[in-house]
Amino acid sequence: MKPPRFDYLVPRSLDEALGLLAQHGEEAKVLAGGQSLVPLLNFRLVRPAHVVDLNEIPGLDTIRVDDGRLAIGAMTRQRQAETSALVRERCPLLAEAMPQVGHVQIRNRGTVGGSLAHADPAGELPAVVAALDGELVLRSRRGERRLAPHEFFVGYLTTAAAPDELLVEARVPVTPPRTGTAFMEVSRRHGDFALVGVAATVTLDAGGVCTACAIALTGVGPTPVVARDAARALVGVKPTDDALMDVGRRVAGALMPDSDLHASADYRKHLAGVLTRRALARAAGRVDAGKERQ
Ligand SMILES: Cc1cc2nc3c(=O)[nH]c(=O)nc-3n(C[C@H](O)[C@H](O)[C@H](O)COP(=O)(O)OP(=O)(O)OC[C@H]3O[C@@H](n4cnc5c(N)ncnc54)[C@H](O)[C@@H]3O)c2cc1C
Repeated sequence: MKPPRFDYLVPRSLDEALGLLAQHGEEAKVLAGGQSLVPLLNFRLVRPAHVVDLNEIPGLDTIRVDDGRLAIGAMTRQRQAETSALVRERCPLLAEAMPQVGHVQIRNRGTVGGSLAHADPAGELPAVVAALDGELVLRSRRGERRLAPHEFFVGYLTTAAAPDELLVEARVPVTPPRTGTAFMEVSRRHGDFALVGVAATVTLDAGGVCTACAIALTGVGPTPVVARDAARALVGVKPTDDALMDVGRRVAGALMPDSDLHASADYRKHLAGVLTRRALARAAGRVDAGKERQ
């Protein structure tokens, strides 16, 4: 299929882009890496009158540490984040998730902001940002808003961004000392969207007792699912096999995924429990590597 006709607009600055979005509102769609938007256009599942290409706007692709947070510009290519030493050092959870996004050809074009704004519930990046309780920075001519993941991801492929708003940055806390992280997923073939994925973080005190834990899952609901209650069950105890098994059971028990062509609801629940246990064990085993992190 070919896309329907649209005006192709190429702003040279953020301000110009925001002006175009203010002018055209719901009639416009922004183009980042095009890895999701172009297929949607070609299948005529979206029919914008205007496509606003973000690729000529300078300054939206930087990765920096700011105020204890790793700030990643929306137009940062997924591959750029994957190969960044700063990401590896300051946010190893994101670094581990990145190579699991599609194939390298997709990551060469696909952007961090596009992945978050597309809000695919099977996507890795929404779950990472949710597990880390990050912030999504939205800009429009009306000003700036910073949303928590549960405010930003509101439904299947749907975010709280208004038609005149651009996602300009994602901010996640730098991984603290004595914290291990892990991202694990199961997909049918390498590069496929995951059936289920788990992002996990575990912080241990000097005696090996868990002081903080976070778990977020992909593929088990219309948005990334944060398993807050199950994660809390690990706090105050050591991450023994029994304790991790218990957390995995709690996660599986609380989920209500849908069955679809790819997997039944029961299989997804089972997978979520098993992957949670394994991801937590891997994260706990990595705490020593994070001991010295500042
Ligand atoms: C074969 C294949 C396999 C894939 N596998 C995976 C996978 O395993 N995991 C995964 O997570 N993804 C996967 N993807 C999707 C890929 O990660 C896309 O790159 C991503 O979903 C969209 O990023 P993009 O930069 O290409 O955005 P685009 O396709 O350009 O845009 C996607 C949507 O987001 C909007 N948008 C983009 N940027 C912004 C912004 N800054 N502000 C507001 N709105 C914006 C666009 O208007 C559009 O609606 C796969 C894609 C393909 C083609």
